[in-house]
Amino acid sequence: MSDNNKIQKSESEQKADANYAIKSDVISVSAHQIRTSLSAIKWIMEMFLAGDLGKLTTEQDNLLKKAAESNDRAIAVVSELLLVNKTENIVEKEYELSSLNLVESIESSIFNFSGEAYARGIEVIFLKPEKDFPNVLADKDKLLIVLHNLLDNAIKYSNLHGKIFIVLKQKDNMVQFSIKDTGIVISENGKAKIFEKFYRDEEAMKKEMVGSGIGLYTIKKIVERHGGEIWFESANDTGTTFFFTIPISK
Ligand code: ADP
Repeated sequence: MSDNNKIQKSESEQKADANYAIKSDVISVSAHQIRTSLSAIKWIMEMFLAGDLGKLTTEQDNLLKKAAESNDRAIAVVSELLLVNKTENIVEKEYELSSLNLVESIESSIFNFSGEAYARGIEVIFLKPEKDFPNVLADKDKLLIVLHNLLDNAIKYSNLHGKIFIVLKQKDNMVQFSIKDTGIVISENGKAKIFEKFYRDEEAMKKEMVGSGIGLYTIKKIVERHGGEIWFESANDTGTTFFFTIPISK
């Protein structure tokens, strides 16, 4: 890899990175400790619910089930926090660009999400381009974060038994990726804010309680660091489509 392919940072950016790394370590250690405690509580509640410690009355059983559900949600929230923290860390690191086969990256991403898609009866259809489609110039790990977030959202916010279409097109010296789903649409208010950190639409929160609103904010940064653009179209009759562009590798 030549040095031209590394995007270098200024001194102040490097200092900000160091501060950021300390904060993010604190979040990570605390979140892991919280998750360990919650997991211990989960384990104890499961023993009670299984009757290992004696038969429960119906009222005790009902209340304990509610407590267990609430505990599971808390575990999911902390896990999301850990994931966000890890993702943000990666985004801030140096970018190592190489010539990548985007078709293969998309196929492996679809494979990673096949379990989730299957559980919701959703079909992910990749309309593969012609054989000699160009490679892109990208940092592989970061590009995978972009693909995973868009696929994850398309599945999460789709209706059950929906269809998701992924299309690749060449536009001059860029490749354009698009992912279309037939789920909830982005609200008028959300259209201006969707790429803001922590923003989530009300409808999305009702559908998926666990979420951080940090995914799109993060991937916009990644796409732009590659010299690309990201945008969306969302309407009742057509569903939601996210697009991004990424430079072709010469
Ligand atoms: P999260 O999914 O954790 O809420 P994101 O940053 O990935 O965070 O998305 C932010 C918000 O954008 C979501 O909460 C939702 O309101 C909206 N959104 C993202 N993708 C879609 C989609 N495919 N269809 C409808 N709304 C979406």
